Amino acid sequence: MEPEIENQNRRCPRLGSPVPLSYCMKCNDNHRPCGKVIDCWWEFFDIKSYLEKNLSTEDFTELVNQKPQDKITSILELIEKAKNR
Ligand code: SF4
Repeated sequence: MEPEIENQNRRCPRLGSPVPLSYCMKCNDNHRPCGKVIDCWWEFFDIKSYLEKNLSTEDFTELVNQKPQDKITSILELIEKAKNR
């Protein structure tokens, strides 16, 4: 990961605090990227090209093609993850 991009921060809408891209790239199950990584980072730089370059073809395709979750599903998943920590 390029250091200048890795160290860039943005406010996470889920956590309510700043997070670096390096966090977003590994915060999902099995250290995979957050499902909102494209939505959250497209205004800062060309995140799609970055993901295409840094993920396997399979992971990139899965991320780009995933269906957005409704808010209730996202919240329930976050609660479940918090319980397991
Ligand atoms: S990509 Fe995920 S972890 Fe990163 S800022 Fe967005 S919602 Fe938060």
